[in-house]
Amino acid sequence: MNWSIKIAQVANIPIKVHITFFLILGLSAAQWAGRGDDPIFGGLFGIVLMLALFLCVTLHELGHSLMARFFGIDTREILLMPLGGVAQINKNPEKPLHEFLIAVAGPLVNVVIAAILLLIIGIHPDLSLANLLLDGSGLTRLTNDMSPTGLIYWLLTANVSLVLFNLIPAFPLDGGRMLRALLAMRLGMPKATQIASGIGQALAIGLGVYGFLSGNWVLALVAVFVFVGASQETSTAQAKTVLITRKVGDAYNKHAISLQNGDRISRVVDYLLTSYQPDFAVVFGNRLLGIVTREDVMRALAIQPNDCYVSEIMNRAVFKLNAADTLDDAREKMGAQNVRVAAVYDGEQFLGLLSQEDISEAFAILTFVNRHQQLRAISAQT
Ligand SMILES: [Zn+2]
Repeated sequence: MNWSIKIAQVANIPIKVHITFFLILGLSAAQWAGRGDDPIFGGLFGIVLMLALFLCVTLHELGHSLMARFFGIDTREILLMPLGGVAQINKNPEKPLHEFLIAVAGPLVNVVIAAILLLIIGIHPDLSLANLLLDGSGLTRLTNDMSPTGLIYWLLTANVSLVLFNLIPAFPLDGGRMLRALLAMRLGMPKATQIASGIGQALAIGLGVYGFLSGNWVLALVAVFVFVGASQETSTAQAKTVLITRKVGDAYNKHAISLQNGDRISRVVDYLLTSYQPDFAVVFGNRLLGIVTREDVMRALAIQPNDCYVSEIMNRAVFKLNAADTLDDAREKMGAQNVRVAAVYDGEQFLGLLSQEDISEAFAILTFVNRHQQLRAISAQT
């Protein structure tokens, strides 16, 4: 369970809200209820304001998603959280220019929204800032005004803030992604990621300290997210450079025990006790029928008292990988589909299984081997 609720589907992209989002709606309602004479009107105004803000955030994320789709990359979902939205794009674009355009598309949406709001203000004489200022009401009062005018000015301020915040070059914020893309055009992706993450983490520490000292907890929390996000992106980028060098056909378990469809669960339990293997292919001759994992066995043992056949509990919807795919392709595809174990094929021929753990293991070993080779190369030079 990931504590999110699907509220809509736009352009084939599911839009979900995290349940903590409702907490923010409540907080906003409570905050505005205390401001006017009528707490119910104030509360409703607070809710409308927050919904309008999150509509702008959703449009921002759709900007990223639709630009990504233009370059052939799908979005798994858009998730709205109290601190903002995330468009979960299936993979990082290969070309720096594509990454730049995908990153810039989000803030650009807020620029367009701000421009439309300014236009409304310009067309409508009653809303004009000059008139309102003559009226004796400053901008601060305007954004606190519980009226359509107040709503428009509040949203304008919010959209301008969204643009400015997202342009901070702190990777993995949009501005940081743009910076990485620009650096990558010259230095290549691994180096660019390293530099952009370093800048992102330095800025995150700065933001965090400032947020902490000024008592701005939201800012401090955002800084923590930026810091963690930057280190995650660095490790993904490192994994990519290593995993892209090996093929799936070199990394699947060639000595795995497989099951026949006539085998019973008790036999799998024996294998689980006497080997480290957690996943089993159920085969008929050379043909793969399905996969039985350690979790499937545990679940079956918990609900079925008798020793049933593995064919009754195996998973027949198997995710397929090609032996010629790189391990990095495998990592991306399995991550996008959220599968843990995949079947490796050479054309029509089933070869064996590859799990996320196998990929992590391959990464650990390859990193170690590479480091050793580098050290040896350095000692050979000196
Ligand atoms: Zn964005």
